[in-house]
Amino acid sequence: MSKGHELKIDRVEYVEHVLLRGLALQFPMLVKEERLCELRAWLNKIADELEGSLPKEKIDEAKSRIDIDKITMGLSKDLDYMGKRHFLEKITPWMVEHHMYSKHLGMVGRPDKLILIDGEIIPSIIKTGDKPRQGIWGYDRLQLTAYAMLVEEEFEVSVKQGFVEYVRFGELRDAKIKRWDRKRVLLILTRLKKITDGMLPGKSKRAPCEHCGFVDMCNMRKSLLSKFFGD
Ligand code: SF4
Repeated sequence: MSKGHELKIDRVEYVEHVLLRGLALQFPMLVKEERLCELRAWLNKIADELEGSLPKEKIDEAKSRIDIDKITMGLSKDLDYMGKRHFLEKITPWMVEHHMYSKHLGMVGRPDKLILIDGEIIPSIIKTGDKPRQGIWGYDRLQLTAYAMLVEEEFEVSVKQGFVEYVRFGELRDAKIKRWDRKRVLLILTRLKKITDGMLPGKSKRAPCEHCGFVDMCNMRKSLLSKFFGD
């Protein structure tokens, strides 16, 4: 955008992402009030609210790609497994999109949710893409770790874990914050500094191209470096 290109945000994948995210933010209320049967109605409501700002045919197509039964099944499974109280504790935000800034790390971040359980602050992110067979994706782990580092600096606490909500599957997964990932975050910050200094990296094999508004004009290629780091 700084080069004068316009960001297109009407791709169907982007609209789907917006719908799923909106739906995820309703999960705590729907679980608390035992109204999971209303998920489809909520999806329609969120879609209606988007009309006017995004093309209707894209909204309809995005809606048709969302499997409400799968989401309901995933949430019900988590509910059974954790029990209502514990599950609610883990998905109910203490803060939403709290903006954090660290001068020391040279990093800003806004996790989807900060969860507070027994005095422990836990960063939580909402993901609308695929889920791994077990645990969480490596890049979600790094994102959580970066948020954990910001939380530690801002609230002067130690963060031991984070959550990821894989909305498309109605599934909540947790992950420990590891020392090795903290080191990788610092390494990435060094690489980002090079980007802001003007050196663009090669394309990562997991670059979110399907959600990207610049995909039509992008000619980035995968670099040896990104292959090496496996991101
Ligand atoms: S590599 Fe993919 S995500 Fe990155 S700018 Fe290009 S199209 Fe967008």
